[in-house]
Amino acid sequence: MKNYEKKVAIVGGGWYGCHLASYMVHLGMDVTLFERDDDIFTGASGLNQNRLHLGFHYARDYETRLQSRDGFSRFLERYGQFIEDVPNNYYAIPIGDSLLDFKTYKAIMASSGIEFEEISLETLGFELRNVAGVVKTNEKVIKVSEAREFFRKDLEDIIVFNEKISKNDITEKNDSVTVKNARFDFLIDATWSKLFSYDDNIFYEPTILFYYQSVYESFALTLVDGPLASVYPTEDPSICTLSSVPLTPLGKFDNLHDAEKRLSNFSKEEEEKIRLDMENQISKYLPNFKEKFKYLSPQLSMKTKPIGIEENRACYVKGDGRVIKVMSGKIDTIFVAAERVLNIISRNG
Ligand SMILES: Cc1cc2nc3c(=O)[nH]c(=O)nc-3n(C[C@H](O)[C@H](O)[C@H](O)COP(=O)(O)OP(=O)(O)OC[C@H]3O[C@@H](n4cnc5c(N)ncnc54)[C@H](O)[C@@H]3O)c2cc1C
Repeated sequence: MKNYEKKVAIVGGGWYGCHLASYMVHLGMDVTLFERDDDIFTGASGLNQNRLHLGFHYARDYETRLQSRDGFSRFLERYGQFIEDVPNNYYAIPIGDSLLDFKTYKAIMASSGIEFEEISLETLGFELRNVAGVVKTNEKVIKVSEAREFFRKDLEDIIVFNEKISKNDITEKNDSVTVKNARFDFLIDATWSKLFSYDDNIFYEPTILFYYQSVYESFALTLVDGPLASVYPTEDPSICTLSSVPLTPLGKFDNLHDAEKRLSNFSKEEEEKIRLDMENQISKYLPNFKEKFKYLSPQLSMKTKPIGIEENRACYVKGDGRVIKVMSGKIDTIFVAAERVLNIISRNG
């Protein structure tokens, strides 16, 4: 059977499920997308920092850096209408608190082929303290509302909303897989390990970050490398998120149930404490933070990560039968996922 004759079920309407569905429909395949909620992008895809990464975040993971660099240009090509420039986008390397010194950081980025400009602290136009150096980059922000609107229309004929798929709804055979009694050639799990666990080497990480109204337009500051903080604009250039490598994660859980419980039991007092700690953390480097950024609201979400190299955000795909599992990386790694899924489908006939 040719690829375009295949009948495929995709579970999960986030960036991965929607991109895969759109790509496969345009290849002529017969696709059904199951989403448990009444809209798409209700999971991490609608609740994250929306950076279109070039790799500056991942000085300590080569594979993630390369997937980011390549994913960046592919994202511009395919979904360029959903991105916005971030003209004031800085990466700063603190003195003492960074795991890499400024010279090493620059050498790693230059050797990865990603462009940046070194900026002197005197010409920045805002006060920065306790940092060894600053680079200005061309990373962008994803306009998530427009992307959601696009996929709602693009996929309207193939999405089944309010359809939570459980393992009991799925029967895998040699030549097909049934989902809720309907026959498909393949099933793709694009739930970020909410339906099937990708493998035993993953964990769930509930997260918190905070929205602020900023006096600076399109302003991003990321302190690297290690347990540091960052501010990044949203699709509204005057609203940004504040996040922190040590304070954003609300724990590590090897099962989804406990991770979800952590989010639902989260108290206002704890939220307030984390927010103040995060503000204090960034104020060490951006001393005017509390004056220039007005707190708006929290954002709670969930990541799924591979155990092992903490910095790894690469995308992986596997499937030796009729069920293909996607382990999402970042948003820009959707293209890696699509290629690998198609390879498996071609190989397994
Ligand atoms: C705090 C935070 C910040 C981040 N910042 C960035 C960033 O700046 N840049 C970047 O590139 N990436 C970032 N990420 C990562 C990014 O959010 C993910 O790469 C991406 O959203 C994963 O998309 P997904 O489609 O795999 O998962 P999701 O968006 O979680 O989608 C999964 C979908 O599956 C549905 N679902 C789950 N179970 C079932 C079921 N049983 N049946 C039917 N449907 C089901 C859910 O409702 C959901 O819609 C961040 C993530 C977090 C949490």
